[in-house]
Amino acid sequence: MLRRALRLGLGPGLLGRGLGAHGEGSTLGKAEGSGGYRGSGVFPISSDVTFRTRGPGPRWEDSGSLGAGDWHGKVSEIKKKIQSVLPGGAWSPLCDTSHLPPEHSDVVIVGGGVLGLSVAYWLKRLEKRQGAIRVLVVERDHTYSQASTVLSVGGIRQQFSLPENIQLSLFSVEFLRNINEYLAVVDDPPLDLQFNPSGYLFLASEEGATIMENNVKVQRQEGAKVCLMSPEQLRKKFPWMNTEGVALASYGLENEGWFDPWCLLQGLRRKVQSMGVLFCHGEVTRFVSSSNHMETAIGEKVTLKRIHEVHVKVDHSQEYQPVECAIVVNAAGAWSGRIAELAGIGKGPSGTLQGTKLPVEPRKRYVYLWHCPQGPGLEAPLVTDPSGAYFRREGLGNNYLGGCSPAEEEEPDPGNLEVDHDFFQEKVWPHLAQRVPAFETLKVRRAWAGYYDYNTFDQNGVVGPHPLVVNMYFATGFSGHGLQQAPAVGRAVAEMMLEGHFQTINLSPFLFSRFYLGEKAQEHCII
Ligand SMILES: Cc1cc2nc3c(=O)[nH]c(=O)nc-3n(C[C@H](O)[C@H](O)[C@H](O)COP(=O)(O)OP(=O)(O)OC[C@H]3O[C@@H](n4cnc5c(N)ncnc54)[C@H](O)[C@@H]3O)c2cc1C
Repeated sequence: MLRRALRLGLGPGLLGRGLGAHGEGSTLGKAEGSGGYRGSGVFPISSDVTFRTRGPGPRWEDSGSLGAGDWHGKVSEIKKKIQSVLPGGAWSPLCDTSHLPPEHSDVVIVGGGVLGLSVAYWLKRLEKRQGAIRVLVVERDHTYSQASTVLSVGGIRQQFSLPENIQLSLFSVEFLRNINEYLAVVDDPPLDLQFNPSGYLFLASEEGATIMENNVKVQRQEGAKVCLMSPEQLRKKFPWMNTEGVALASYGLENEGWFDPWCLLQGLRRKVQSMGVLFCHGEVTRFVSSSNHMETAIGEKVTLKRIHEVHVKVDHSQEYQPVECAIVVNAAGAWSGRIAELAGIGKGPSGTLQGTKLPVEPRKRYVYLWHCPQGPGLEAPLVTDPSGAYFRREGLGNNYLGGCSPAEEEEPDPGNLEVDHDFFQEKVWPHLAQRVPAFETLKVRRAWAGYYDYNTFDQNGVVGPHPLVVNMYFATGFSGHGLQQAPAVGRAVAEMMLEGHFQTINLSPFLFSRFYLGEKAQEHCII
């Protein structure tokens, strides 16, 4: 019954009712006093409902005409005034809590990378009454030193095999093209994404040619502009390329290229702050939840959980602040598997839904930057070789960047972000030099490593609610294509929260339940 309900796309909300769960599928927005929330399942936030979490405490929406930001500003002004008239110089008679997160928030987003910020943006953008939803983003590293977003290579393409991935990237490219309509902030300068339009060029061997043809069919059906090229056509268009071993190529004619990820991240951050989203510099270390044990008609035991409190450990201190909330978004990127574990996800007998883990883990990927005076010019696309090696131009001075994902059995230790220079020498360069003979003489100038938010099950994103921890939503696991899909994924997750279903793009194949059901959303075009 559980499997059947999940296959039908019914959240445990409906399941729960079928099980005779108490409650009527209330919305999370309706506070339940101190007794916790009744009902269960995919509870949409009704965005025109006034939000309140359990217990007493400040309610931002009650603060007259002041927004949350204004309110905190006023409090800190008053504190400063009191301080200035009291004796005692630098000694602070009031406990300064400005660094602490608020005690209540309707939504707590774990992770302030591009995916977390995009969810925050769409929640605020789609809320029906301004200020109706209080959103807190918790980010443990404000320098983003290890965040995938800023260590990525900034590419966007529509050459995927799954219709959902193509649609996500088509939506995102429209967002990026009109970034200053979406992310404009009054009195702030416009964003310059440094968008570099350039097609991706996928090369296929004889073995991969049929799959490529099928992929291109799907891409075109979804509205992407992609053409197929023969080796002869390739030689004419890109005379610097050696086409040995290439049977077919697919080339993006529109809406592909690369951009500055840092600019997108900062643009989103600036915008969501202007929309009233709060940020907190701290680490989520614990969830406090309640459980509800149930039995299905055929005797299967199911435990539904609801998170009530998120503990945020404040930076450089042993202090933590409990934040009461209605919904938690797991947007912790490569570390989201750990956040799921903290919520008890995967802690159950194997083979059960309860024992099914979020299969997302950090996988180290190297990016090398090299110079080659004789290398291809401005017309060079982003080339992916049948071997898996890829490269693209970086700027205008005959600089290039690229890399290659290692074989599964050769995955490097993700314990640090050190670069393995031998990997370039042995696994990347030979393929590059074979494909572009000019690269025989390239000189590596620098390199870095970053983490893919790698979904070991099918290398695709995980979105929407967890079927058992009913108020944890995912926006993670995009395994190397999360940056470009973030604008669309944030919208999908916000729609699911606000309306209870996907509206713009149906991402049902990316729900968590597929891990339990064993239904892969296998993407063939992973770089
Ligand atoms: C080398 C490389 C190249 C890539 N190239 C591309 C590309 O060309 N195109 C593309 O679309 N994608 C690319 N990607 C993938 C893309 O970068 C990611 O899919 C995307 O950035 C994921 O965004 P995120 O917000 O989930 O993760 P992140 O940017 O990693 O953000 C997650 C944040 O969560 C925070 N966090 C974690 N745990 C906690 C906690 N307990 N408490 C508080 N905060 C926490 C982290 O500090 C981090 O800042 C690439 C990735 C790499 C590594």
